[in-house]
Amino acid sequence: MSSIAQAGRPSLVWFRTDLRVHDNRALRAAFETGAPVIAVFILDETGARGRPLGGASRWWLHHSLTALERDLAALNVPLWIAEGETESQLLNIVAVAAAQRVDWTRSVDPATHASDARLKEVLKEKGLAVQSHNGHTLTEPWAVKSKTAGPFKVFTPYSKAARAFIGMYEPWIPVPRSQVIPDVLRNLSIDDLGLLPTIPDWSKGLAETFEPGSAGAEQSLKRFMASAIKGYADRRNLPYAVSTSRLSPHLRWGEISPLRVWSMVSNLQHADMGLERDVFVFQQELLWRDFSYHLLWQNPRLATENWKTQFDGMPWREDARDKTAWQKGKTGYPIVDAGMRELWTTGWMHNRVRMIVASFLTKHLLLDWRVGETWFWDTLVDACPANNPAGWQWTAGSGADAAPYFRLFNPTSQGENFDPQGAYVRKWIPELAKLPASAIHKPWETDPHILRSCGVTLGVNYPIPIVGHSLGRKRALEAFASIQKSGDEG
Ligand code: FAD
Repeated sequence: MSSIAQAGRPSLVWFRTDLRVHDNRALRAAFETGAPVIAVFILDETGARGRPLGGASRWWLHHSLTALERDLAALNVPLWIAEGETESQLLNIVAVAAAQRVDWTRSVDPATHASDARLKEVLKEKGLAVQSHNGHTLTEPWAVKSKTAGPFKVFTPYSKAARAFIGMYEPWIPVPRSQVIPDVLRNLSIDDLGLLPTIPDWSKGLAETFEPGSAGAEQSLKRFMASAIKGYADRRNLPYAVSTSRLSPHLRWGEISPLRVWSMVSNLQHADMGLERDVFVFQQELLWRDFSYHLLWQNPRLATENWKTQFDGMPWREDARDKTAWQKGKTGYPIVDAGMRELWTTGWMHNRVRMIVASFLTKHLLLDWRVGETWFWDTLVDACPANNPAGWQWTAGSGADAAPYFRLFNPTSQGENFDPQGAYVRKWIPELAKLPASAIHKPWETDPHILRSCGVTLGVNYPIPIVGHSLGRKRALEAFASIQKSGDEG
């Protein structure tokens, strides 16, 4: 370390949800200035820049920052950690470091985008060079436009149009800098941010399942390309197999760029391996992520307001007992309970099962989709301000391009179709593990002798369903009919 006069005025790279050094355009721009580079991360829990993080996200962020700090140290770039209101913290760091330039990856979340634009002006007025860069999504939400120049509300035409907006992937791998860092760092440590759970520490299952950070992201991509991509188009719906990439938390925190994932997987399409359909379907899933941001851009209150206002009159129930049974995986429907327990243990849940548990909450239990969205926000390691509310509104029927409300998932037949041998249920509900495949998705219809011989006593070690399928279905359809009617009258 040395004084600023000796070292030269530094360039700052402000990290947020782009916690990677490879293929990071903001970092690249700072490197290219030739000035000393200081990385900055600010934890802002004031609520002024969006929703406070849930517990699983905080755990992920702690480990992701630790990995980033290590990756930056290998480049001889220090990470300056701060906490508090973003603008004042960043302006303070700029002043203390006597920075001459700030680069960041552009936010595609409207909750922060406008504040960023104001901050950019303030920094420019202070004489700094400021540049923001694309990098969190494949396409920026405001860029993709329909023929009439408006935004899209339906996925398929959106996905067709969006493909034309995806830029070229230009891999950038930074090389270590020999730089003199001015002796100005007034750092908090990552531990000081207090992101980890303490009493109780529930994070063991998360740590056993995931490796936060870019190395973990690369590992997941490599594994996916080596195996799960083959047959992805069909097998991605099977929750018992590792049939998807599990990149979602890595993409959420930008530990790998979506353009890199897109490009690496797309290359397989040209390799004459018969993967055309699998690659296309995977690309569509990545575009669903962009589409969620496209919707969030159109309605910043996607997590709190029904997209279809008709749903404002939905007679949602309030029932603390049903809500708790759902959260704890004790509804009596094995596929629902397995999913909720997978979520609680690992911080992640398979997409097909997310749809099943969300449908069960909003239809069979007739509880408001925001109840489920909030629970997912707290418990998912990939809890995303766009994908999470979009996924919930889609399933509930209130979303832009939503599944019709009257299309209810039958949890028993969903289980039988997508987990036919019951391997997924057995894994997450050990008390049902000895049941034969024919009984595992409907223990309440199973001969009591078989149940007893398999160690299952309904109502004792596994619940009786908290609502019957027919009753839940009828109640949901009546509720929906009531808002249809009022919509028609209006
Ligand atoms: P893969 O199948 O390998 O797909 C690759 C990537 O594409 C994913 O990592 C993800 O970024 C994106 N993707 C895949 N499916 C979808 C989808 N249906 N919608 C949007 N993007 C998708 N995803 C989140 O990232 N964060 C959330 O908070 C979230 N909440 C959801 C809530 C509900 C109720 C539902 C139904 C879905 C939600 N999803 C969410 C979407 C989806 O379930 C996950 O992205 C997916 O399960 C992640 O697993 P993967 O990385 O193995 O996906």
